Amino acid sequence: MTTAAAPLAALQSDLKNKVAIVTGASRGIGRAIAIKFASLGANVVVNYAGNKSAAEEVVASIHALGAQAIAVQADVSNEQDATRLINETLAHFKKIDVLVNNAGVFLGNPVHAETTEQYRKIMAINVDGTFFVTRAAVPHIQEHGTIINLSSVVTKSPFPGVSVYTLSKGAVEGFTRALAVELAPRNIRVNTISPGFTDSDMLRSGGDALAKQGVEASLFKRLGSPEDIAEAAAFYAVPRSGAWVTGANLLSNGGAGGFSV
Ligand code: NDP
Repeated sequence: MTTAAAPLAALQSDLKNKVAIVTGASRGIGRAIAIKFASLGANVVVNYAGNKSAAEEVVASIHALGAQAIAVQADVSNEQDATRLINETLAHFKKIDVLVNNAGVFLGNPVHAETTEQYRKIMAINVDGTFFVTRAAVPHIQEHGTIINLSSVVTKSPFPGVSVYTLSKGAVEGFTRALAVELAPRNIRVNTISPGFTDSDMLRSGGDALAKQGVEASLFKRLGSPEDIAEAAAFYAVPRSGAWVTGANLLSNGGAGGFSV
């Protein structure tokens, strides 16, 4: 007998039995992606750098949805930590289907005022971190699995003070396209999401002026929410919607800073 609940149950099992790692999942966009994936049936590794209580809150939210989750502290910019993140995932869940390289840092200065220390921090987390975690994960990602990397609309539409951040995200986009080719023989898809101005601690660290700039830049006159970006991640991760998409860069930006063409 068909019940009204049946179609909903089917919708919510799109990622059933899949194992997803989301880096930087204690807050903001990563948190929303982790919870979205769990709502679709995935078991999730909630990576964080230092904010243990926030990560544990995300794990509790996932348990409340009926999915499994563990929190794993690992600084993605540290090679040993990145390898341990993958090893702890395999020890607990035995496999990896989805990797989201979301952990990132935004620090903005005009290029002439950028310190070497700050440059190295941005590159270490945004670029080295993406590489270290991906390198450790790739041998273990299941056939038909997927990698999702977080870039930013600044690579299309920069504004003053974001040159080094843009340098880091441009590297992420190129890495995505090259990996899409490299991993295609294993039926692994690799894609980028480029959020626009999204309401998170990162954005708020830029003060009211940055938030106002984000509202004005959007064609819909609001900031994106982390949940908006999580829907884009779900599109890629769910085999039914994402199966024929690789090497792509989806601008999830409310039209702020250009279009996905
Ligand atoms: P937030 O600053 O709100 O959250 C950052 C997350 O990354 C936290 O969970 C933090 O963990 C984690 N993190 C930071 N450094 C490390 C590290 N070295 N190792 C592991 N985890 C780390 O960021 P957003 O949610 O706003 O951004 C997420 C991604 O989206 C980033 O890649 C960012 O560049 C990108 N993006 C964001 C935009 C925006 O407007 N918000 C726009 C475009 C792109 P902890 O809590 O432990 O500190």
